Amino acid sequence: MDGIRQYIRENIAALDPYSTARDEYKGELGILLDANESPYGSGVNRYPGSALKEKLRGEVARIRNVAPERLFLGNGSDEAIDLLYRIFCEPHRHNAIIIAPSYGMYSVCADINAVERRMVSLRAESFALDADALLAASDGNSRLMFVCSPNNPTGNSFALSDIERLAREFRGIVAVDEAYIDFSASESAVPLTEKYPNLIVLQTLSKAWGMAGLRIGLAIGNPEIIGVMRQVKYPYNIGTDTLSLALEMLAHNDVAAQVAEIASERARVAAALEEAGCVQRVFPSDANFLLVRCSDPRGLYGRLLRAGVIVRDRSGVPLCGGCLRITIGTPAENDKLIETVRNYE
Ligand SMILES: *Cc1c(COP(=O)(O)O)cnc(C)c1O
Repeated sequence: MDGIRQYIRENIAALDPYSTARDEYKGELGILLDANESPYGSGVNRYPGSALKEKLRGEVARIRNVAPERLFLGNGSDEAIDLLYRIFCEPHRHNAIIIAPSYGMYSVCADINAVERRMVSLRAESFALDADALLAASDGNSRLMFVCSPNNPTGNSFALSDIERLAREFRGIVAVDEAYIDFSASESAVPLTEKYPNLIVLQTLSKAWGMAGLRIGLAIGNPEIIGVMRQVKYPYNIGTDTLSLALEMLAHNDVAAQVAEIASERARVAAALEEAGCVQRVFPSDANFLLVRCSDPRGLYGRLLRAGVIVRDRSGVPLCGGCLRITIGTPAENDKLIETVRNYE
């Protein structure tokens, strides 16, 4: 493998990145007259220093057991997804291979960046990955491939052997979105990024880590890709308060206990919903949601709404006919959901 340089857009490879005042001077002491900030101390009058960002990067890297130079922190995973398009795909020329059904942002970012998207269907009912079809859909202009595992909205995970095969055989960057990996018993693809420089794993603090409001996404992979992502991102993509709050929450949140409760609630809700007359099928899930096929999805959606329970109607999504996607809440919230579904005829 001759590295990932060959896949980077020419203008990006040639980029002379913006250098901030805080890149040039990293200290915190002294009289700071370099960045046109307000001198009046309010706690946030200064641009975010690199020290706090590097502290969070070090902390997340330690928790994820990767070297800090293999980790990118973005303004949500959505920033990382968009950056991958901007770094690797020439508008109106390159294309991206995307599994379907899956997370909508892979497609939206392709459209925003004027990149052709080639949707490759999972197998009906099992939602299994069709690695042959993904590779067959690619050509010399394919630069990105998006695989989400556990997948949203189907809830299932894909075999690491399939992901490894895609990384080995695809002539471009394979992005594996592991937003829900903490809810899953299956192994992460992160260790494979050591072996395959064209493999990048996306994770997030938005789900199991309980920080959706902070907007912090992770990309883990080859330091060369991570380095380019850091050059192309907005100079100060994560604010000071966000960085400090994230550090505080990483130190105090009991994620393991919450994840364990979600997993046991997921099993309880699945079993209860399977008993309900209006439910045809509850698909197995490795995530913090269930995909549920019902006889009358719109009617049930409306009934839940009137009961004050909001779920996601996915019945219009390919392969998801009749399906609602239901997030696992607290035990009391789940009780309310179960009761409403059971009483629906
Ligand atoms: C929720 C979700 C994300 C999280 O995105 P953030 O921008 O980090 O909040 C990423 N990927 C998938 C598949 C998701 O469902």
